[in-house]
Amino acid sequence: MIGAGGVATVAAFKIAQNADVFTEFMIASRRKAKCDKIVEDIHKAGYKLDIKTAQVDADDVEQLKALFSDYKPELVINLALPYQDLTIMDACLACGCNYLDTANYEPKDEAHFEYSWQWAYRERFEKAGLTAILGCGFDPGVTSIYTAYAAKHHFKEIQYLDIVDCNAGDHHKAFATNFNPEINIREITQKGLYWEDGKWVETEPLEIHKDLTYPEIGPRDSYLLHHEEIESLVINYPTIKRARFWMTFGQQYLKHLEVIQNIGMSRIDEVEYEAPLADGSGVAKVKIVPLQFLKAVLPNPQDLGENYEGQTSIGCRIRGIGNDGKEHTYYVYNNCSHRAAYEETGMQGVSYTTGVPAMIGAMMFCKGLWNTPGVHNVEEFDPDPFMEQLNKQGLPWHEIHDGDLEL
Ligand code: NDP
Repeated sequence: MIGAGGVATVAAFKIAQNADVFTEFMIASRRKAKCDKIVEDIHKAGYKLDIKTAQVDADDVEQLKALFSDYKPELVINLALPYQDLTIMDACLACGCNYLDTANYEPKDEAHFEYSWQWAYRERFEKAGLTAILGCGFDPGVTSIYTAYAAKHHFKEIQYLDIVDCNAGDHHKAFATNFNPEINIREITQKGLYWEDGKWVETEPLEIHKDLTYPEIGPRDSYLLHHEEIESLVINYPTIKRARFWMTFGQQYLKHLEVIQNIGMSRIDEVEYEAPLADGSGVAKVKIVPLQFLKAVLPNPQDLGENYEGQTSIGCRIRGIGNDGKEHTYYVYNNCSHRAAYEETGMQGVSYTTGVPAMIGAMMFCKGLWNTPGVHNVEEFDPDPFMEQLNKQGLPWHEIHDGDLEL
């Protein structure tokens, strides 16, 4: 596993809990000390799996190749940042390793994500007999598997798909992001995008919003965003007439975000800054990226868990033609408690809902259930064994048939 952040910590705990499937395991990241700390916490919690650790800069293909040739992993779980997807895929190809991630590639200098960069590896993975599993977190990840499950069991034709993501948690900070702040702010400040009648429709950032009611939570203002799983789902389910993604934000969060943008702190280009030297002997001209600097002063998402109350609720609201030829609606979702996630893994619910599916995806691969060579989005695999594991591994799902979808 590459990365030692919030999501990686959860995935490592869950891997240690499933030591009958994962018999050998290594955590490698930019800073080895963070990997060692995860292992220490896992062992303190009573799990016995022997876990190796290593230092690696995942921006450097040669370093990755040296590590993979030495450790010889069957599967590399990429839980670093989206910037590293391609270097890790290159190293996997060079060393004969299979690959899994939770977020699609994004270039550092352009706030833009799409699958084309990773889909371009399809033929090479296929020829090498290797499997790459893309987008195996919660969204993307579980939301795509929910859609595959609905298509397999409940619908002849999925026509309308709305993915709804609510975080009704309170971490008692004025402003904090729930996963890597740089990636999170880049995602939210982009233009909105959704699929309708065979084409993409663009909106201004956070232009479209409406109150949606979430189970056990109630109504929350939900904003239409561009989200990566829509891109593959409309290809894999061509009957979809409209597909959208909604995420809740509170007024306080949005107010801070607006100020951050207005004062230029969400910029991703370099600005020159005169920094005083540590010994007081003068100044040095340095280049900083404002958004990366902002990340350094914002609360670390990994430290939010302790006082986090409330829960997340993420699901798919689907309308289409059922197996009986009549129109039906279907809502499948999970609610996850921040407190329960923290008590089990030391991390909050957003890291938990991403790290658990990453482990289950790895389990599907290791059990030989999801290992078709090539580069695949998760909905291309059989959803049933994954859905079964969600119930066993801490993310149980619930269904509402023929309810009011509000959308
Ligand atoms: P964090 O920032 O907490 O963790 C990222 C980790 O990657 C850190 O340990 C970091 O090192 C390490 N890292 C960064 N750059 C490198 C590098 N060049 N070489 C080696 N290691 C590196 O992020 P999260 O845990 O919150 O998120 C992890 C991933 O999960 C992201 O890609 C995010 O987009 C994705 N995600 C997906 C979701 C989904 O539902 N699909 C939801 C939430 C997140 P260091 O500790 O030194 O900083």
